[in-house]
Amino acid sequence: MTKTAIISGITGQDGAYLAQLLLGKGYRVIGLTRSLAETNWGGLEYLGIKNDVIIQEIDLLDILQIIQLFEEYKPSHFYNLAAQSSVFQSFKHPIATFQFNTLSVFNLLEAIKRVDPKIRFYQASSSEMYGRVNNLPITENSVLHPLSPYAISKAAAHFTCIHYRESYGMHISCGVLFNHESYLRQQHFFVKKVIQESIRISKGEQDILWVGNIDIKRDFGYAPRYVEAMYLMLEQEKPTDYLICSGHSISLREIIEYVFEKLGIPKSACQISPELHRPAEIEDMYGDNTKARSELQWNYNLTIEQVLDLLIEEELKNDKTN
Ligand code: NDP
Repeated sequence: MTKTAIISGITGQDGAYLAQLLLGKGYRVIGLTRSLAETNWGGLEYLGIKNDVIIQEIDLLDILQIIQLFEEYKPSHFYNLAAQSSVFQSFKHPIATFQFNTLSVFNLLEAIKRVDPKIRFYQASSSEMYGRVNNLPITENSVLHPLSPYAISKAAAHFTCIHYRESYGMHISCGVLFNHESYLRQQHFFVKKVIQESIRISKGEQDILWVGNIDIKRDFGYAPRYVEAMYLMLEQEKPTDYLICSGHSISLREIIEYVFEKLGIPKSACQISPELHRPAEIEDMYGDNTKARSELQWNYNLTIEQVLDLLIEEELKNDKTN
């Protein structure tokens, strides 16, 4: 019998790649969006799978709609990717970020508990939850110290999942993902912005790349490979949480220098704008992916330079202004 997987956040970067992967595994895929009228289908269309996914409009803050959804589609798996996902935006809209990112998770888990507790649930947790870390690399046992409203919301949702798993024996796994990038990344995220604007600079269409604090370091990976780990988590008999990361960090400055050199741009084309600095900033973070490698057999081996090469190549290939 065909298994049914529901993905919330289907319009996002990870939603599109995960839908592609699950369709390839033979799943019937239901994709959730908050608004059919305003939805941008860019990712699903780009991957050529728009007509293969059943799209459903839903308000995840309304538990009755979720219960109805489960009764109608009888899913075996639910991948919860919907979230206000920008740290920067969360400082501007802290309450809305917290409200959606936490209440939606409570509603989903409560609905699963009532309709079919056997539904397997994946939660998109974030490395941002660790915030001010004392020891690197981060492991599954590191202490959480969130430094943004986004991180606080993700930490609350993370503990909500642990609570339902421990209290009701539900099959819930949290993937604590570190930054991961792709051609489908939203334009305001750092790596996508740097590559897009650098291409414009290289063609004489823009003079300056404006950035905030570029001395911070992050652990970056490749989204199409990270969604494989999400799938593998829900295939395990025993639910638990995993760090999904490359295991190395790189400064944002080094990323800019790498992209500039590839595109033949002088360093002077990058300028710092104090307006782009955040009220609080994590200096460095990278994780230990040993658990995911050994238990999930998730074999990730791309360096950040290889990821940047892939992204630049795909961006240039799709650059309509050539
Ligand atoms: P995106 O920002 O690309 O996608 C987020 C999705 O959530 C979109 O489909 C968006 O819908 C939906 N969404 C946002 N706000 C709401 C809302 N208020 N109501 C309903 N839907 C909403 O994120 P990614 O695909 O990159 O990430 C997927 C998940 O993984 C997110 O939860 C993110 O926080 C988490 N994560 C991502 C990391 C990364 O590096 N990419 C790292 C760690 C965690 P719409 O199109 O309508 O805006």
